[in-house]
Amino acid sequence: MEMRKINKILVANRGEIAVRVMRTAKEMGIQTVAVYSEADRDSPHVHYADEAVCVGPPLSAESYLRGDKIIQICKDLQVDAIHPGYGFLSENARFARDVTDNGIIFIGPSPEAIEVMGDKLAAKNTVAEYDVPMVPGVNHAVTEVDEAAKIAEQIGYPVLIKASAGGGGKGMRVVEQPDDLEEQMKRAISEATSAFGDGSVFVEKFITSPRHIEIQVLGDQHGNLVYLFERECSIQRRHQKVIEEAPSSVLTPEKREAMGKAALGVAKSCNYYGAGTVEFIVDANLDFFFLEMNTRLQVEHPVTEEITGVDLVKEQIYVAEGRALSFAQEDLKIKGHAMEVRVYAEDPTNGFLPDIGRLQTYIRPQGPGVRVDDGFEQGMDIPIYYDPMISKLVTFGDNREMAIERMLRAIKEYRITGITTTLAFCAYVLKHEAFTSGNFDTKFVEKFFDPEELKKKDPEYEQIASALAAYLIDGRKTQTAVNGNGQLSKWKLRARN
Ligand code: ADP
Repeated sequence: MEMRKINKILVANRGEIAVRVMRTAKEMGIQTVAVYSEADRDSPHVHYADEAVCVGPPLSAESYLRGDKIIQICKDLQVDAIHPGYGFLSENARFARDVTDNGIIFIGPSPEAIEVMGDKLAAKNTVAEYDVPMVPGVNHAVTEVDEAAKIAEQIGYPVLIKASAGGGGKGMRVVEQPDDLEEQMKRAISEATSAFGDGSVFVEKFITSPRHIEIQVLGDQHGNLVYLFERECSIQRRHQKVIEEAPSSVLTPEKREAMGKAALGVAKSCNYYGAGTVEFIVDANLDFFFLEMNTRLQVEHPVTEEITGVDLVKEQIYVAEGRALSFAQEDLKIKGHAMEVRVYAEDPTNGFLPDIGRLQTYIRPQGPGVRVDDGFEQGMDIPIYYDPMISKLVTFGDNREMAIERMLRAIKEYRITGITTTLAFCAYVLKHEAFTSGNFDTKFVEKFFDPEELKKKDPEYEQIASALAAYLIDGRKTQTAVNGNGQLSKWKLRARN
């Protein structure tokens, strides 16, 4: 394997992840190129890069997903490597192949690994020989209701019908009893056909009240593989993660090692190199089952960086250059505890509807143990075209309690006006007994979240609001505390904190 030094990287992404990747590149003395859509002309990732090129109109399909244009830009600007971030082209095997065919390094695994892990049935079959626990069920596509009924009878209800090509929770249907099987199966097939152009579905046991725990893996192109422990991502809303932490509060060292080894088995099965994540579902007995592998850098990677001291992007770049890993499994230790909350421009008191608009005030929290990965500045509009995530707020402490306390302090310090965010919702979760005790599962939000609680008056913010009102009535108006109509919105002030 020949070494190839990377001197210039193009980041085929936007927002916080583009900035995050460029930061590491800058530290490594690597030149950076940003691509942007017309909606992102003024974004921090564009200003942060050494060079920036517009790739097209706001719609992703016409800009961030235009692999052909992006490859051409690399050729024009003598770019050595492309970092795809997450989302967009990051798990597109064809793009990865085109990049390599054009003599450019793809910072990620091989196209073959992306391909096989992108298909749930192919992944199950590939992993089958590697001693990895699987959810009871079948490893082949099921088209006949009769066959599905037989399988369901064997594994026992409730069962889950899943689309092989699935992603983002689409094409998944829970079946509680035999009578519902036929209809749910038809629905899953039609949903999968329209969403992915592939109607293959399979049947597996539905694990009630599961936890979602995933293992970070890292491999080089010389066959070395390590795992960087777990991230607990059980706090989800409609199968989307909202709060992540590392380590998990329920794993024993033995269980951690068993899951780590299973994750390495998954990685080996597809000759994995680069950074990747093996997701497991964990039942009430702490038995774990392989769900899927994400062949890219994960949104929640910072919590792993905080507890291991490893810069995952730096390692991705080294691996892409052909270097061998500079550490072994024994060198890795967990130090402290990290939390991440995803801050979305959504209104938690109104069904989490996106609340797009202008960031009138945007002041980040600071101080010990606080990291903010974001892609916005005060005064910017949140574009309607992309994911409404504003930032990832990460805290680190000696232990879980400290990481939670720091997170609550950081949430209070965060000043955002002009739009509603999920910060208040995150604070609600962090203070809840089920969360602090560690005794929770993926149903937390369904079971415990009551939007009415957020609407209740919080004396602290009432005080701030009235002080601010007095200040404004004084005639010295500031933009920061007024809403679109130029009036002070007490509710908005409260909701943001
Ligand atoms: P997707 O690719 O659509 O995200 P996943 O297989 O990763 O699908 O599953 C997404 C989420 O659905 C998991 O995090 C978990 O909460 C739930 N889930 C998946 N499989 C099962 C199962 N067998 N039993 C219970 N819940 C499941």
